[in-house]
Amino acid sequence: MFTKQQQTKSTKVKKKSKNPRKTLENKLDTLSAKLCRTQGYCTICGKKDGVLNAHHFKSRVYKGVRWYQPNLICLCVHHHTFDFKFSAHKTPEAFKARMIKLKGQEWFDDIEKKAVEHTSWKSGQLEEMLQDIKLKLKELE
Ligand SMILES: [Zn+2]
Repeated sequence: MFTKQQQTKSTKVKKKSKNPRKTLENKLDTLSAKLCRTQGYCTICGKKDGVLNAHHFKSRVYKGVRWYQPNLICLCVHHHTFDFKFSAHKTPEAFKARMIKLKGQEWFDDIEKKAVEHTSWKSGQLEEMLQDIKLKLKELE
C-alpha cells in the first residue's frame, strides 16, 4: 500500500527536475519528513507499529516552517487522515486545539511567527538547512 505522500514522491523522481532549487526543496521535503518520523510513534495515540506520516501542522505552503521540525508532527495514518472523529485532516480545529494543549502556546506562537517571517529562502540557506537535517539524521543512526 502506498500513502499519498509516497505516490507524489515517486512521480517527482520520475520527472527528475532540472531546477536545482526545486531539487534542493524536494530533498528537504523528503529528509525533514524522515527526521520527523524518527520519533517512532504517533504523537496522538503513541502507536509505534505501522506507517507513520510527517504532518505539517502549519501548511507547507508557508515556506518559513515547511522544513522546521517543530512544525512537523509524527502521526499514524489514522490520526493523520483516516479518522473522521479525530485526525489532523478530518477535524483540523480539534486537532489544532489538542496540539496547543500538548505542546503549549509558545510552540504555537513560534510557528505562526516563523511561518510569515521567512517567505523566500536563499539557496545557500536551503543548503544549510539540508546539511543540518542530514547531520541530525546521521546522529540518530
Ligand atoms: Zn495515532
